[in-house]
Parts: sequence; C-alpha cells; structure tokens
Amino acid sequence: MRSAREELLETSRLMVERDLNRGTTGNASVRDGAGLLVTPSAVPVAAMTPESMVRMDLSGRVLEGGKPSTEWRFHRDIYQARPEIGAVVHAHSPFATTLACLRRDVPAVHYMIAMAGGDTIRCAPYSVFGEQRLSDDALEALRDRKACLLANHGMIALGHDLPDALSVAVEVESLCEIYWRALQVGEPHILSAAQMDEVRRKFADYKPRRAGN
Ligand SMILES: [Zn+2]
Repeated sequence: MRSAREELLETSRLMVERDLNRGTTGNASVRDGAGLLVTPSAVPVAAMTPESMVRMDLSGRVLEGGKPSTEWRFHRDIYQARPEIGAVVHAHSPFATTLACLRRDVPAVHYMIAMAGGDTIRCAPYSVFGEQRLSDDALEALRDRKACLLANHGMIALGHDLPDALSVAVEVESLCEIYWRALQVGEPHILSAAQMDEVRRKFADYKPRRAGN
C-alpha cells in the first residue's frame, strides 16, 4: 500500500498532468492522524519526492520537513472545521481562475454542479494569499460545499480522500469551462432549485464505481 506521502506526490503530479496547475502554483494536503501532510513551498512538482511533504499539527507547527505551502492556513482550517474532509487540493486552473477574476459564483449551469454540494459554487472575496482572512472567507464559501472559487486567485476542492478531492477539482474546472464557453455565445439557462433537488435525489441513489470514474 502506498504511503500518504506517496499519494500526495501522485496527486500533485496528476494536477499538473490534467492542466490544473503549472509551475509551482497550487498545492495539496491530506489529513494525517491529528494533523496534516502538505506539499512544500516553492518546489516544482517535478522536483518533489515523498520526503518533500511537510508534516504539521493543527496549531500550524511543522513537525517534519521544510517550509510548507504558503497556503497551509486554509488547509489546516478546513481539517479543523470539517471532520468529514480527508484531503484538500488548491489550483490556479485556467477556467476556474478566469471566473474567479470576474468574481462570479458559478450557477447551476449544468446539473453536475450538485457534486460540489449545492446549487452554486461560491466565490470567496479577495485577500492576499497565505493570510488568515483568506482562509476565513474560503471556509465561509465552502459551507455545505466541497468546492469554492477564490476571487482573483483560483479554486479549492475537498474530498474524503485525495482521489475524491482531485475528481472534484477536475469537475469544477470542467464546469467552469462549460459556463465560460456558454457565456461566449449567450446567456445560459440556469437550472431551477426544483430541478436541482431532483438531481440530488438521483445522486443519492447513484454510487459510482471507484475505478475509472
Ligand atoms: Zn494559490
């Protein structure tokens, strides 16, 4: 079985492969006992090893490793506030970030938005990266949701484990691309609250297989 460090490295590589992150942007973490393992600051994914991952406790103290991602605060705060969450990924992916620069919530432009936990993906207000204010606003935008946008910055996606968080991030990027494309042609129709309720009832009966989904 792969270690949490290896899984975090694999997720970081997949984020680059799927064009969610470029260079040293973006970061990821996984819950680790009473704390978390988070990707290091300013290390390109190609140069990361399992040992590069930084182990921290929930007070923000580094227990093992070098400098954690500058965004460690929202990772830590999410694990503290959301006991059901086991992994967090953060990306500056192009379509989600484009909408975040417009400071738009993503509406129910496609029924798959329900996988992020609601009828919208909220956009948190802008604050400079790494600050507590950004984390507080992100937590608010993530209330009852598994994803949010960060104004003029990017997106956050949550999951019960790393593959889950990554699949939410991929889906959010895809929804943002669809919304962006629809806006180029006209004003997309938005699904109603009743139509989204119907989707949620269907989702409750539908459990996708883990592999290949
Ligand atoms: Zn960022």
